[in-house]
Amino acid sequence: MTYLKTLFLHPPSYEGFDGGAGSRYQARREIRSFWYPTWLAQPAALVPGSRLVDAPPDGLRVDDVVPLARQYELAVLHTSTPSFAHDVLVAEKLKTENPALRIAFVGAHVAVSPDAALAAAPAIDFVARNEFDFTIRDVAAGRPLGATLGVSFRENGKVRHMPERPTLESMDDLPFVVDVYKRDLTIENYAIGYLLHPYVSLYTGRGCRSKCTFCLWPQTVGGHRYRTRSVDHVVDEIALATRHFPQVREYFFDDDTFTDDLPRAEAIAHRLGKLGVTWSCNAKANVPYATLKKLKDGGLRLLLVGYESGNQDILNNIKKGIRLDVARRFTRDAKSLGIKIHGTFILGLPGETEDTIRETIDFARDIDPETIQVSIAAPYPGTALYRQAVENGWLTNGALVDERGAQASPISYPHLSSARILESTEDLYRSFYFRPRKIFAIAKDMMMDRRVMRRRLAEGLEFLKFLRARRRAEDRHQVVSGQTVEVP
Ligand code: SF4
Repeated sequence: MTYLKTLFLHPPSYEGFDGGAGSRYQARREIRSFWYPTWLAQPAALVPGSRLVDAPPDGLRVDDVVPLARQYELAVLHTSTPSFAHDVLVAEKLKTENPALRIAFVGAHVAVSPDAALAAAPAIDFVARNEFDFTIRDVAAGRPLGATLGVSFRENGKVRHMPERPTLESMDDLPFVVDVYKRDLTIENYAIGYLLHPYVSLYTGRGCRSKCTFCLWPQTVGGHRYRTRSVDHVVDEIALATRHFPQVREYFFDDDTFTDDLPRAEAIAHRLGKLGVTWSCNAKANVPYATLKKLKDGGLRLLLVGYESGNQDILNNIKKGIRLDVARRFTRDAKSLGIKIHGTFILGLPGETEDTIRETIDFARDIDPETIQVSIAAPYPGTALYRQAVENGWLTNGALVDERGAQASPISYPHLSSARILESTEDLYRSFYFRPRKIFAIAKDMMMDRRVMRRRLAEGLEFLKFLRARRRAEDRHQVVSGQTVEVP
């Protein structure tokens, strides 16, 4: 079978923008970091002769990627709500360079609003909605759009939506992504502050059983059933990765909630233990001690845990499905086993007040994960939080990022302004990190490993610069509207 020459592209937008096909909350981070573009690597592995280009980690600007248009027949661009306007500009430039190039947009943003996307940009030929792996494979293999499930496209001046593609159940049908990583990516360009470097991340399943109202993927592309690859399939891919990338120090399973299926997580850990790799994963704060022990014995180093808030009413408001006392016990158990935790928190969720901000700060200091990340409530289109924010008039100008691509504060309550929500993230960071116990722990880690020392010093400087730049941006009150943008 012959395939269209296909380019998979995470386009350039804001400098250092972590918005690729593997980033849940697309923004320029406080400390430069990038997730792998796994959602693009999966269809890239299905289309022989394709190429995956991830512009931000490789430092590519629009002038670098536009000439590629002449070499390809189909370009698949992954987009997001914050970067959509930039991505459309890139698509237009690609089309000008090669008018015969067919351009597809993929990602949750266009899956939720394919009509709006096609209306906004004549350069987009079609949208591949939701799980687009086999949709793109079919189009690249020459199937007409009018015979392809899961696409939306223009026909006779109107938008035509083909029926949904059935949800992928046989997850082992997805090919390994590490071959595409090896072929097209520079893995040293991917770094996450709390993961050992270099790291490689991939998915062993899709979907999350929880129904958190703010969480984008399970409410759009992934769904609420945890669909998984077999243990053999996962372990075979990691074994292959160790041969492709002997320099990798850590593997990360970026499934929404890897611990949604405890017996399977234990089985994978058992096999990984035999392989002798170090790994980490996303987890909910309710994993029992016995499972934590088995995961640790199988090489688990760190858990990324979404605590979100230290106030139970807020956790109930967002349908987190977690009790604070359970989260506390889980954290104690993990720490007693030597498992590190990167805890993530969100400020500005429905029900937030000055008191609950204080409670979250106290909670974070009290449970004391190794590291934390503080986000601002982000109402992505397609989520229950977005609908709630629209209905209640909580949206300010709706921009999820500021002029630099850093997280903005799009929600404002009558009793709590968006500016105060933004400011409170800094309060939490400062209160958590600027205390003797934490400074001593970080200094100890740095003394024990020169690589850690170099990284932490660079990250510390970067973090302070980020805060300064944010203050300058706030002073100028320049928040990108999502429409008037420049491409770097
Ligand atoms: S548990 Fe995590 S991944 Fe699952 S819906 Fe909630 S925030 Fe999203």
